[in-house]
Amino acid sequence: MTERTERIRLLPPDLINRIAAGEIIERPASVVKELVENSLDAGADRIEIDLEGGGIRRLRVRDNGTGLAREDLALALARHATSKIAASADLETIRTFGFRGEALPSIASVSRLEMLSCARGATQAWSLRGDGGTPPGDPVPAAHPEGTTVEVRDLFYNVPARRKFLRAAPTELGHIEQLVRRLALARRAVRFRLGHHDRVLFDAPPAEEEAGLRKRLSLLLGEAFLEQALELDDRAIELHLQGWISSPRFSRSRADQQFLYVNGRAVRDKQVAHAVRQAFQDVLPHGRHPAYLLHLDLPPEQVDVNVHPAKQEVRFREGRQVHDFLYQSLKRRLARGILGREWAAREAPAPGSPAAPPPTPPPHQSPLRFGVGERRAGYGASLAIQQPPGRVPEAPEASGETASGPANEEIPQLGFALAQLHGVYLLAQARDGLILVDMHAAHERIGYERLKRGWAAGPLRRQPLLLPVTARVSPREADLAEAHAEVFQRFGLGVERMGEDCLVVREIPVLLQDADAETLLRDLLSELAEHGASDLLRERCDATLATLACHGAVRAHRNLTLEEMNALLREMEQTQRADQCNHGRPTWIALSNRELDGLFRRGR
Ligand code: ADP
Ligand code: MG
Repeated sequence: MTERTERIRLLPPDLINRIAAGEIIERPASVVKELVENSLDAGADRIEIDLEGGGIRRLRVRDNGTGLAREDLALALARHATSKIAASADLETIRTFGFRGEALPSIASVSRLEMLSCARGATQAWSLRGDGGTPPGDPVPAAHPEGTTVEVRDLFYNVPARRKFLRAAPTELGHIEQLVRRLALARRAVRFRLGHHDRVLFDAPPAEEEAGLRKRLSLLLGEAFLEQALELDDRAIELHLQGWISSPRFSRSRADQQFLYVNGRAVRDKQVAHAVRQAFQDVLPHGRHPAYLLHLDLPPEQVDVNVHPAKQEVRFREGRQVHDFLYQSLKRRLARGILGREWAAREAPAPGSPAAPPPTPPPHQSPLRFGVGERRAGYGASLAIQQPPGRVPEAPEASGETASGPANEEIPQLGFALAQLHGVYLLAQARDGLILVDMHAAHERIGYERLKRGWAAGPLRRQPLLLPVTARVSPREADLAEAHAEVFQRFGLGVERMGEDCLVVREIPVLLQDADAETLLRDLLSELAEHGASDLLRERCDATLATLACHGAVRAHRNLTLEEMNALLREMEQTQRADQCNHGRPTWIALSNRELDGLFRRGR
């Protein structure tokens, strides 16, 4: 045996900090989160965030909080130095965001950091630098009003492995914008200003009264959200739920506008998420997500916030009760709101409105045009239950073993349509037994496969809208759309900017000619904001097309004529992967005659 040469030794502080940074700091948005939470902990009511290069090159958070005295400034950059707890008993009663004393030294170890601060009432401000883990020197005199500024430049400049994982500036900027929005929605009394280079992305003044609050919300969530949102204010013993939920008409392709706060903290909680999902379950088209902003308040002793390092999870003492209260409140509110909206929609039908289809639309509204002439239109109309002579017992998909006679050869695999059940299922008589089709699921798959074929052939073909559709968006979204007009064109959307926060859709894909243009636009925008243009065009194009296909599909409760039903069946037979919808659920099932006989105990 050779002698062990590696000895155990204590890690140097800069290495410890860098390891901690690996846990806390993933991207510029994580830095902004730590800095803004520090500002909030310092009692600031004005926070300004300025960015360059998506926050990678430079980010600066400036506040008007309590500030730091000279000695404290030096300590702030030292590991496990915190003003927020002193003894272990304090851990039980944490009211602040931070308490671990790790953020600032960790950030400093992977960037070039400068902290300037002037303590409340002090006459002199001080500044301190911490560059890439080199020990900070002494604070030097500086000019700064009461409060603190932290500037972080060149994030991960000394950790190339982490730097590589950062996305392009617009994507990182998107994460920061989402984060600041989340914080600003929680803290109404604080002014939040977010700027990127010379542009102000938003500047949300404190909201004291009702009108101010609405203004602030429309700034942060977009005018469209508030216009259609259902307001909610519900109490049970010790529980208070207040906020806004989207009407299903405003549903989104991603769960990116869901804000829930428990006692002012943004949290993720499985039970809460489940309650919300349940409440929306039967009112949203599948694959769609609601938007909401909800504040749940309950006595602090009913909830433990100290179960997650980043405090994004909580534990409720009466979890079941919280779940049921949320579920019932939302469900009740949705029932009331949607009914009202649907009546209004019937009086003045909005063409192409996906979530509020009239109960009996005219027959020729089909988003996918069916041109197939029906050879045997009257075939199933009688709902005949006698067994056709010469039938074979095997199910149609087991055609390999089927000794099909001449009578069977002209019956297609999925048979001929008989009727529609509850506007959702299509019934067809097949060679052997009954076929049941989920029309929406089937339609979605067909549309998706068509889009994929179209996509492979070049930019999706566009067709002008009779009436261009205008949509209110955030200035950042408008910037995105403008900068990436060619991406929209590739997906078949002709989009133009009309001023600061307004986009016009003039063309949509021929294959989706009856889809809702605004929904298509919003879906593409949120995909673009999340994934960036190049990913959308390469790795993400199928997923994006699937999202679009969802809007071309027949919604449940639309009545089809027999011709349309038969055309759908023929289309399915011609489509790849037609047995599953885009979300993996079956589009059709078969009940063979033998299975039907079994159900009725019919002997043979
Ligand atoms: P923590 O927030 O967990 O205490 P940090 O490393 O984020 O740890 O900050 C260390 C200390 O620096 C804080 O406890 C606080 O006293 C001080 N500090 C940081 N940022 C600010 C700020 N913006 N205003 C006033 N004090 C601050
Ligand atoms: Mg902190």
